[in-house]
Amino acid sequence: MQEPAKPMLIDGRQTSTSNDPLVSVNPARGTINHAISAAGPDEVDLAVQTSARAAARPDWRDLQPHQRAAVLHRISELMQRDAEVLAHLQMIENGKVRSECVAQVRSAAATFRYYAAVCETLGSEVTPARGNYLSMVVHEPYGVVAALTPWNSPMTMEAQKVAPALAAGNAVILKPSELTSSPALELGRIALEAGLPPGVLNVLTGTGATTGAALVSHPGVRMVSFTGGTASGRRIAAIAAQKLMPVALELGGKSPHIVFDDADIEAAVEAVAGGIFEGSGQSCVAGSRLFVQREVRDRVVELLVAKARGIRVDLPDAPGARMGPIASFAHRDHIAGIVDAARAAGARILAGGAAPADPRLAQGAFYLPTIIDGIDNEAAIAQQEIFGPVLCVLPFDDEDDVIAQANDSVYGLAAGIWTRDYKRAWKVARALEAGTVWINTYKQLSISTPFGGFKESGFGREKGVTGMRLYQQTKGVYFGLDQP
Ligand code: NAD
Repeated sequence: MQEPAKPMLIDGRQTSTSNDPLVSVNPARGTINHAISAAGPDEVDLAVQTSARAAARPDWRDLQPHQRAAVLHRISELMQRDAEVLAHLQMIENGKVRSECVAQVRSAAATFRYYAAVCETLGSEVTPARGNYLSMVVHEPYGVVAALTPWNSPMTMEAQKVAPALAAGNAVILKPSELTSSPALELGRIALEAGLPPGVLNVLTGTGATTGAALVSHPGVRMVSFTGGTASGRRIAAIAAQKLMPVALELGGKSPHIVFDDADIEAAVEAVAGGIFEGSGQSCVAGSRLFVQREVRDRVVELLVAKARGIRVDLPDAPGARMGPIASFAHRDHIAGIVDAARAAGARILAGGAAPADPRLAQGAFYLPTIIDGIDNEAAIAQQEIFGPVLCVLPFDDEDDVIAQANDSVYGLAAGIWTRDYKRAWKVARALEAGTVWINTYKQLSISTPFGGFKESGFGREKGVTGMRLYQQTKGVYFGLDQP
């Protein structure tokens, strides 16, 4: 590799290190994209110091909300201007199909626009007094917020954290996944161009174990917002407990997608397939456990198998590609290992269960849309998060049976229900232990609706108006009115 490692962004400056760089590999072709500088403890310390100074700078701290909103608007516009570049970088780093990458840039830009509006319009409150005083609530930034993001949807996750944390008046240190550093570095560049003072958004690239852990542990970091796996979330929560630092955790899932016998079967099958195979199943809300009522099981499975076999798995920039590769070779092998173990334990593989035979895809980390049958909800493959295009088919008898099975999981991120009976839909939606429930739709997401997990899928809610409050601490202020 000839090119020098891409620098990280600290205090508005491109910063390189002598540490071993990260090497980005294109998962569709197996070729090397570029190298990326990796932050060690010294760079982490420098980033936190400069962020703390930036958080206190009058040209950031004293901005009125409408002025902060103007900067967020400008970031949104510049992201749209640079959408092709951003989408391309995500595509070569995590292998998602081009159309999905473009949609994710647009969504990220819209998130900045949304939080510009929230920032400009969200007021403080005057509370009911119990005497001759005026009491009010004001909301203040933490100071330095660390945002750690995964590789599956880097830009949407980064916008979801950075936009509200900036709107709230913080300085942010963004630590993207080691697989998808480039979109975050571009966001840092765009923010500077948009007029954000240097140091208000630092971007630290590097591994979770070294860079991420040093960042979360740093005493100057006052709040952490993390999206990633449950095991990493547990480690971060342990550090946060020692520091007594607030932390928001968006973690893994094993979401139930429920099809009752009275559902619109064609529509349900379409949504079940999209819910697990879009993005090669690398979605925290992937509907990976299909609960199908026994009466319609055979028909649903037959339609789903046909759909899975018909999905065009191809290079992510090939016209008409529906599914690209898995984001890394290591993760593809991890998925294959889980499916092979289930097969060895007696599961039936109704579709997929292997890499595609197409020789054009042989150099990439591809894996076919896979449907697994002949297991129950206690099977390892039905309990562990796979984060790949693997659907488990699990029959059920009635409402109580499916509620019990669906809730029999350590996770509680999302769930889907297909039925024409609105009373049943309501009853089941309320009984499911999940932060988001979709009825006769799936993976419908809006920046204006709070999102987060129950149980080991995490805590704290991002998005929505309260998504800005996540990055603020509340202060009560009393004015005595007795004095002349
Ligand atoms: P991951 O936990 O390995 O890494 C996420 C981020 O945290 C990365 O930036 C990584 O470098 C960093 N990190 C890892 N270990 C760390 C540590 N000990 N200290 C500090 N930082 C650390 O997750 P991933 O493999 O990048 O992403 C896949 C996971 O993310 C899946 O489990 C998926 O369900 C989850 N996810 C959840 C949501 C959600 O909103 N709930 C959304 C997307 C992905």
